[in-house]
Parts: sequence; C-alpha cells; structure tokens
Amino acid sequence: MAVHTIALIVSALLVLSGCAPPPAAPRSSAVLFEGARLIVGDERPPIENAVFVVEGGAFAQVGRAADVQAPEGALRVSLAGKTVMPAIIDAHGHLGYRRSASFLVENYTRENLLDHLQRLAYHGVAAFMSMGTERDLGYALRDELRAAPPAGMALFLTAGRGLAMPSGGPAPPLRDAPYGVSTPEEARAAVRELGSKQIDRYVKIWVDDREGQVRKLTPELFTAAIDEAHRLGLRTITHTQDREDVKAILRAGIDGLAHPPWRLGQEVDDELVALVKARPHVFVLLTLWGTRNQIFGPRPAWIDDPLLRETFTEEDIRLLENPKVPPDAPARWKAGVVPRGVARLKAAGVRFGLGDDAGATNGAQYFGFGSHMEMASMVEAGLTPEEAITVATRNSAEILGLDRLGTVAAGKSADFIVLDANPLENIHNTRRINAVYLRGQAVDRAALRAKWTGARATR
Ligand SMILES: [Zn+2]
Repeated sequence: MAVHTIALIVSALLVLSGCAPPPAAPRSSAVLFEGARLIVGDERPPIENAVFVVEGGAFAQVGRAADVQAPEGALRVSLAGKTVMPAIIDAHGHLGYRRSASFLVENYTRENLLDHLQRLAYHGVAAFMSMGTERDLGYALRDELRAAPPAGMALFLTAGRGLAMPSGGPAPPLRDAPYGVSTPEEARAAVRELGSKQIDRYVKIWVDDREGQVRKLTPELFTAAIDEAHRLGLRTITHTQDREDVKAILRAGIDGLAHPPWRLGQEVDDELVALVKARPHVFVLLTLWGTRNQIFGPRPAWIDDPLLRETFTEEDIRLLENPKVPPDAPARWKAGVVPRGVARLKAAGVRFGLGDDAGATNGAQYFGFGSHMEMASMVEAGLTPEEAITVATRNSAEILGLDRLGTVAAGKSADFIVLDANPLENIHNTRRINAVYLRGQAVDRAALRAKWTGARATR
C-alpha cells in the first residue's frame, strides 16, 4: 500500500477518534511512523531511521527507534526510504487578491481565501501570515477558522491592515488596503484599531515611495506607529527597501524587516551591520522571491517543475515566464548584491525568516509553491539546505509566535511533510512531496489536485 493511501486511512482514524467513540474504535488512536530520515528543523543532523508517535494531533514521542516506546495498539506506518521535515511556516504574503492570473480586489472572497489556504496546505505550509492587506471579511474568517480549524488548510494569520501615507500603500489592487495616515495621532489611532481587532502580533508599516509614484511614510509617522504598537504589546514589521530608510526605521524601534534591507544595487554597509547587531531581536524575512526575475532569467527551469502542473493550468504557467529578462540575469544575481548582503547579515547573527510575498507582485501567486522557491533561493544566496529549512520552519514559527509549530518534537502539533527525496542533498527535493500532515491529519492532496486541474482524483 502506498504511503499516501495509508495516510488517508490514518487520517480517517484520527477523524473518528475526535468524535464520540464509534462502536469499532481502535484501542489506541496513536499512530507510530517509523523508518524515515527525520529533519527536526533545528539545523541538527537528521535522525536516521527515526520513529515518532502522533496522538491527538500532536507529536507524543520523537526519536531513534530505541528511544521510543510504542503505545499499545498503535497503528504503524512505514516511512522507509522517505524523509520527513516539519511543515513550512510562511511569514509574509497577501491572501485573497490572486485568482489564477487575475489580480483584483473582486477576488477577495471567502471562497478564494479558503482556496489559498488549501493551496498552502497542499504544499506543506502549516501557517501563513497575511501581511497588512486584509479586508473586513478576512478578520471574520480568521476568527472562524481559528475557533474550529478545518482539515486540509493552513492556519491563517493576519496583520490586518497596515499603515502608509494616504493612497501610499503597495501596488494596486493592494494600494487602498492599508490605513492612510497623515498625522501622528492618525497613526496611533490606526494602531489602536488594529489592537482592537486582535491582529496576529505584527503591525505592518510601509515606507516606500515606489520609485516616486507615492509619498513615503515620514519618520514622525512611523515613529508614532511603532511607539503606539509597543505600548499595546504589539510588534512591528516593515516593508522598507531603501537601505537608508531601513536604518532610520531600525533606530525608531522596528522589530522586523519584511524584505532584505537593500534596494537592488545597494550593499549592506558597516553602519547597517552595527544597527542590526545592536538589536539582536530584529529579524529579516528574506523574500528573495521578490527578485525572482533577477534570480531565474527568461523561461526559468522551475516552469517545468511537475509540482506546478498539479495546481495550475498550462495557460497560467505560460503567463509566468519572463520573456523580458536578459539571459545573463541569473549569473549577475549570483555574483551580485543579494548573496553578499545575505552573507553579511548572516555573519552579523541576524535571524532570518521565510516570507515569499505570495499574492502580491506579478509572478508571486504560487501560494505554497512560492515557499519552496524561497528555500531554493536561500540556498542560491549562500545558506546551506539545513539552514534554509530551519529558516522556513523553526525560525518563522518563532517569529510569528507559533509555539506549537516549526519543529518535529514531542508536544508540538503534528504538522509535517513526507518527502520522496532528501532535501539536504538538493533543496529542490522539498517539492518531492509524498504526503502532508497538518494537526496529525493527512491532507487529501489527490482531491485538491482534482479540484485545481479538473483531473480525476487518483491515489
Ligand atoms: Zn508584501
């Protein structure tokens, strides 16, 4: 029996165990997974021939075979030849506006938001932070899903709306989503309203003139917003790409950067290194996907990744090729500021997180696939596969305050990906997904594939 077939049976048993005791309930709801290479998600070498027990949606025991006591009556699942890694946590994107190749406010519907959360789950993403472009519907849906998490969907976190100058938000159709603030009092009032909506930890602040297209939030305004957020026990994260603006907002007390702290062409300098070293809590989401044109060049190889064809039509995929990018772009990227900047920040001890900005700029609509692309880009930029996986799992969970996610360890939620190949040998193998488990239940990937491609569900 194929692993995913067993996974579906296991999932059915776990669903049953959550209801009133059925007449033929098994003696134990525990499931013991054995034989996989286990990447815990904390940069330690993997555990070969690992055993872990899942019970009640959580990891009950994790370790080498000799260290784990099999619960009586536990169902056993062999993962021989497979690699297991923690489910991915994506700390920066924008849910709701993308639908296939279209990018519109009208797409922001309950149905489309749920579809995005399913796409994330399909690719092994356990939680996704929608970063500052929510509309009212999003808050209500977040609360509803939080109260009763449905099977087969990523956890939906939201920073609510962010702050920018009036009409100074991100590119349309996201532009009008943030609060437009003109005075410190307005900035503080917007932050207080976000507090009352119980946003998930972060206030998003845009400081970017979009190459002269919009007015940039002033230091007076972002300082007031950061101060008010901290007064309320909230944290702050910024979209700021100009290196000198990054320095100013670091001095004003920003807690994290949603993008690398440079515009293309700018280098990380000594002053910036000193600022981040003096603020060890400050993290940087790499969002290297944002520079995908520079990374991948025309007709990038990932266009042929079979995983893409499981969730997109051929026409959608064709629209994502980069005909205008010069052929030498990837070589220039590799030798350029991005790997140098990443190396300098890493040497300064900066904590990185994963954010792919999915759902924002053109080409970044691959909810889930984009998270895997980010890990590959991190390795292109000089991180090891172990480091990239840890950034995408443990680090991002910590940044979002998700204590029960991010690693495969006893007591954590049983959110993990079963892979057919080892990503420590080749980071692209994170896409060789055999099965995804969220909260101990297998995601029905065959049914989702059928929904997106119109193909018959095959298992
Ligand atoms: Zn963004």
